[in-house]
Amino acid sequence: MSDNLQKFMFENAGVRGELVELPETWQQILANQAYPPAVRTLLGELLAASALLSANLKFNGTMIMQIHGDGPVKLLVVECDADLNLRATAKLRDNITIADDATLTDLIHAHGQGRFIITLDPNDKMPGQHAYQGIVPLDGASVAAVIENYMMRSEQLDTKIWLAADNQVARGMLLQKLPMTGGYEADTDMSPEARAEHETEEWNRAMALGGTLKQEELLSTDIETLIKRLFWEETIRVFDLQHPKFLCNCSREKVGNMLKMLGEPEIKSAVAELGKLDINCDFCGKLYAFDQVDCTQLFVATTITDGIDAPGQSKH
Ligand SMILES: [Zn+2]
Repeated sequence: MSDNLQKFMFENAGVRGELVELPETWQQILANQAYPPAVRTLLGELLAASALLSANLKFNGTMIMQIHGDGPVKLLVVECDADLNLRATAKLRDNITIADDATLTDLIHAHGQGRFIITLDPNDKMPGQHAYQGIVPLDGASVAAVIENYMMRSEQLDTKIWLAADNQVARGMLLQKLPMTGGYEADTDMSPEARAEHETEEWNRAMALGGTLKQEELLSTDIETLIKRLFWEETIRVFDLQHPKFLCNCSREKVGNMLKMLGEPEIKSAVAELGKLDINCDFCGKLYAFDQVDCTQLFVATTITDGIDAPGQSKH
């Protein structure tokens, strides 16, 4: 089974949609680290959401979702670039037990201090150009609800999201009401009021059809079948199938930069004590070893400009 993302459009309504299924990517993420079931579900849903949002935004760069949790989950990071290359990781607090039915709030927002940040990091940054960061209020009972609220605020577009993940696959669906100027043939005889009402009716109909989708069904059904089953009464136009995949862009250079940021005294004393520093990438598990010579060299080449690391790349 491969990873797929299918964009589609209602031919006779101002509604577009996406379905994503990520068995392969999800298995590669889970192979790197074992998570308690509740954390696994949360991370898998966030992974599916990031693919849906990235494909929806068509942003030329990397979307980084980061949740700094105040509960048992310390950090969740999911990244998706313009080619739908994905990676994800979660960090838990030490010595904690997590109930299988722990909610989003229990896991990351137990004391109201959780922080969810979405960063859009452009590919070809001009000098002085920064990544765009948006704070996502954690005002929802699920990842889907939180992201729907965020989309409403940031894009002013009605968006409905369905997400599900288990130990096999992460899947999701997105439906979005196109703006009035959207890319479909509007009936020019209609008054603006009549048209707005018509669009609301169309959206409500799409919501009613999508609303029948249960998480179990989403988990167990492939994209093609789902489109037929949910929208058989509609004329649906499908676009070319896209193939998201797992890709980690970690490198020795980035790990070296991260060590430099920790400072020479700290690194020197650590390497003196341990002989060498073994650092595993949080996302893919790849090992980077820095011995005494490597560590010394880090602080010799001071003329090298520090790159700005992706947030998920730093050690915590
Ligand atoms: Zn890596």
